[in-house]
Amino acid sequence: MRCSAFVQLRPEGAPSFAPSISHHGGQATRARRNFDNPNCRGYTASPTDWSPIAHPRPRLTSSVSEVPPDQQGSLLKPRVLYVLGYGRSGSTMLGMALGQHSHIVNLGEISALRRFVPGPTYRAPRACGCLLQLDQCPYWTGVARRLGSLEKLARTGIAISPTMGWRRYAPWLPEPSDELPQWAEATAALYRATLDEANAALAVDTSKGAARGWWLWKSGAIDLHFIWLTRRLEDVLRSQIRHGQSAIKTALSWRLAQRQAAQITRQVENAGVRVPRISYERLTEDPRAVLSRILEHVELPWQEDVLTPRPDHVIGGDHAVKHGGRHVIEPSSGPRSPLPLRARLTLKLLDDSGPGEPISRSSIRDAGPGTPPPTL
Ligand SMILES: [Zn+2]
Repeated sequence: MRCSAFVQLRPEGAPSFAPSISHHGGQATRARRNFDNPNCRGYTASPTDWSPIAHPRPRLTSSVSEVPPDQQGSLLKPRVLYVLGYGRSGSTMLGMALGQHSHIVNLGEISALRRFVPGPTYRAPRACGCLLQLDQCPYWTGVARRLGSLEKLARTGIAISPTMGWRRYAPWLPEPSDELPQWAEATAALYRATLDEANAALAVDTSKGAARGWWLWKSGAIDLHFIWLTRRLEDVLRSQIRHGQSAIKTALSWRLAQRQAAQITRQVENAGVRVPRISYERLTEDPRAVLSRILEHVELPWQEDVLTPRPDHVIGGDHAVKHGGRHVIEPSSGPRSPLPLRARLTLKLLDDSGPGEPISRSSIRDAGPGTPPPTL
């Protein structure tokens, strides 16, 4: 069962509130199956019409029969591609590339938004991807206007980053608490405002944390799609050490992140929704093939612009990747710096992936029986 970006058909016997019915071969069948997916309800557009969708205010009802026909638009949910994975895995570049698609807005690490909003929650020297402070940036001031105020933008940031305490470090996915409905409503409103301001149909969220992805999934408030981005631990370590991080802490939290991503992947795929594994190494070797596969996953047409990543108004991410002047996706050409002894030992102890494997074998096992190996 996959989400359809195009059509929403009602199954036989369902209330006749569905606003748009289209029959385009296999898409009609796919869309009918989507009705059972709580994260796919309410998205409607013609298969050939890529004009932006009007997003009315969110409604988190689970009972479609409650909704009278004149309020059917209130079922629409913001459409989001959530990137699972770990930091230093290439998500900044991937988001920047996808953001060049005319129907996609790249939000970056939106879970950190409150630290970017000038005011009590601001942490210097954070700025928008356009290098302006958020209260000067035309995009984010527009988003804030849609939400009510810049202060509201920061408050929304708090709402989408619930305090998780020790649960953040648990080797399992934290179950949502009573906060979930309010959190989901604020999150959906923020996504919707970012989509409307960008005139886009899909938002890319590269926050990566499995817990956030899990809560988004459980909320049912978002038309949610996932990809799982992986990178060889050796290169993650090299990048983290360059940024002054400890090798052992990096390797342990990387393994935890792999385990959590595998768990959410298993849960989502058990519900019939595919989670493509995307290898950073493969992305840099053949960006056209990998980006094309991701666009296919979210059912958007290919556009050449995605081969030229740009930061736009992204939140967070690696400064050098955003502003280093590279506008192509390619493997790094410079010589690899040797890892310090401690990092090499850490790698030997904690990396159970073979040479060239983009993901640990245990993570694949964790994702459940029948889980396909990463293909991209
Ligand atoms: Zn900006």
